[in-house]
Amino acid sequence: MTEPADLLLTNATVHTLARPDETHEAVAVRDGRIVRVGDAFKVSLLRGVETEVIDCGGGVVLPGFVDAHTHLEMVGRHLVHADLRGVDSPAAAVDRLRERAAETDGPVLGYGYDESTWDEARYLTRADLDSVTEDRPVVAFREDMHTASVNSVALDRYRAAMPDGDVHTEDGEPTGVVVEEAVGPLFDAFDPGVAETADLVRAAQERANALGVTAVHDMCRGSHKPRVYRDLDDAGELTLRVRINYWIDHAAAVVETGLRSGHGSEMVEVGAIKSFTDGSLGGRTAKLTEPYADGDETGQWVVDPEELAEEVDRAADADLQFTAHAIGDAAVDATLDVLADHDAERLRHRVEHAELLPDDLVERFAEVGAVASVQPNFLKWAREGGLYESRLGERRREVMPFRDLLDAGVPLAFGSDCMPLDPLFGVQQAVTAPEARQRLSVTEALRAYTLGGAYAAGAETEAGTVEPGKRGDLVVLADSPWAVDGDQIGDIDVTHTIVDGAVVYRDG
Ligand SMILES: [Zn+2]
Repeated sequence: MTEPADLLLTNATVHTLARPDETHEAVAVRDGRIVRVGDAFKVSLLRGVETEVIDCGGGVVLPGFVDAHTHLEMVGRHLVHADLRGVDSPAAAVDRLRERAAETDGPVLGYGYDESTWDEARYLTRADLDSVTEDRPVVAFREDMHTASVNSVALDRYRAAMPDGDVHTEDGEPTGVVVEEAVGPLFDAFDPGVAETADLVRAAQERANALGVTAVHDMCRGSHKPRVYRDLDDAGELTLRVRINYWIDHAAAVVETGLRSGHGSEMVEVGAIKSFTDGSLGGRTAKLTEPYADGDETGQWVVDPEELAEEVDRAADADLQFTAHAIGDAAVDATLDVLADHDAERLRHRVEHAELLPDDLVERFAEVGAVASVQPNFLKWAREGGLYESRLGERRREVMPFRDLLDAGVPLAFGSDCMPLDPLFGVQQAVTAPEARQRLSVTEALRAYTLGGAYAAGAETEAGTVEPGKRGDLVVLADSPWAVDGDQIGDIDVTHTIVDGAVVYRDG
């Protein structure tokens, strides 16, 4: 007699994503693993008295989404503090900060403002923020985190630690805008401790689960997150699998403490060592072979290829996966050169972002065998008249060629970089991409957001498809992404998210 399942999902179309177009009617999970996928009758045989049965209402069941590039603490900050993304004027930003001031007795913090999208395109000033409150610090961080606006209280308190050159003034008076090195003292002053980091992570994981995310590869630098993830796991509070990618400045400590990629529990594990080769296209700091369309420069190295080669050697010698941020074609080229000296497949070395990829680099990528950890949501900037056209001109068509990468055999792992965290929005962008060489089918895009992330973690036999023996990480959608128009995919509702066989999110 077969043991009953813990959970049955019925009245559904289960897309396994294991084989093209393979669908079933129901799925059963026991002890955190998928035990049966098949027709409704066959799966119903596993129903016992204590089995939880979810009627999916004709919805679609998929493997849970794996977001291969997140910054969960930042998601938490947007949720807990004033979220200044999407406001359309300085006045609207001030309103959000006032709402936050009414909720807390402490400092008033806001994150993510972007004045370039406002009609009144100016930074928030000291006067704006003094109007929020004059008796507590008010700080509004710009989206790129290289610029912040402060009120008079914050300025008085932290100015001594700020280099004068990075404190903007007008007629000798500080405007309240501080940049670069002067932002550092603000980070230090408002650095969340362990308890607050736990609150930020709890808020972020709730959001991630609501969007169907069951696992993330999270970027950690100088943060309490690695401890917090393990504490939450011990307490049984973690509802998201977390693979920690440690910043390069933690590499020596990771090696010294004897950690290698994959060490950890079922819920929290060591991932890669993450380094940087170049900057961003927005900031004209991504390293290009030809100058920017709107400037003479070709970007800059953050870590040059020689140093990168040493970093990869050190990580690989310790059996640590390596991932390098590389956005411009010159940066990707140099990164692939370095990775070519290694067995990239063994440790699943990856290139983060890999945005500007002319044809020859697509071929090289395939030869090297590295994972392309890419963000389909960034295609929102690759459309006609978008940011990438201003920076790259016609080369915008060579940005993020997912179709060509897939056809060449490059493993794709989709992620969001939390801009925004939302897998279905990313799938929509990939399916509706402006260029044929960028565009994927719904199935291909969903596989990159599930099996792709699992592969990048060396876990493709454990996760990423709906098959017996795999982890019970699933998402239920109200509508089929195959049945709606491509540009509606991002609007599909997630009705249930299941991690390790437990329902961690339920709609309504
Ligand atoms: Zn990132």
